[in-house]
Amino acid sequence: MPKEEPRRTCIGCRESLEKSKLLRFVLAPDGTVVPDLMNKLPGRGAYTCMKASCISKASERNQFSRAFKSQVPVTDPKELQAWVIRSMEERIASYLALANKAGKVISGSDLVAEMLKKNTPVKKLMLLAADISEDIGNKLRGLADLHGVGHMTLFTKDYFGELLGKGLRSVVVVQSDGFVNTMNTEIIRYRNFLRGEGCTYE
Ligand SMILES: [Zn+2]
Repeated sequence: MPKEEPRRTCIGCRESLEKSKLLRFVLAPDGTVVPDLMNKLPGRGAYTCMKASCISKASERNQFSRAFKSQVPVTDPKELQAWVIRSMEERIASYLALANKAGKVISGSDLVAEMLKKNTPVKKLMLLAADISEDIGNKLRGLADLHGVGHMTLFTKDYFGELLGKGLRSVVVVQSDGFVNTMNTEIIRYRNFLRGEGCTYE
């Protein structure tokens, strides 16, 4: 039997869930509420579901002050949500940069198209820039679906280039069981948050 994961209650909807399915917030030294996506910051934590609506409920009902047992400045839920989204994006970006350093990333639409057609046993994940041309994007998504490669559209060509230390890149593929597993968890969480589905891992 795997050890049971500790549960926490969402201060927005009061539902109790495993810690890993919740967002942790801590109080920064300046007394403001900050998200702690890595679950590493010291101090008391307050938890919400990974849903924008639960963050809103928590701020509107002043639940952060209650959870931290101190009067925290009123937090704009929109600002907090934007911060969570930014932190999630930063995590995906940092894994991509790490995978690239480890030599596990290929980029550019021609190389990627070739790669997608090859059936290798290593897991792959394709990330497409939001500003990729529609034709190329659709062609690559079709290829990825055909070959069972997961994909997501995020960031821009410019940002991919920056992360990889190259010029503009409209598409990248990560090939590595380890990196792809980790990045998939991050991406599912991010996608759920954007879609407002929250809570569950697919
Ligand atoms: Zn909730």
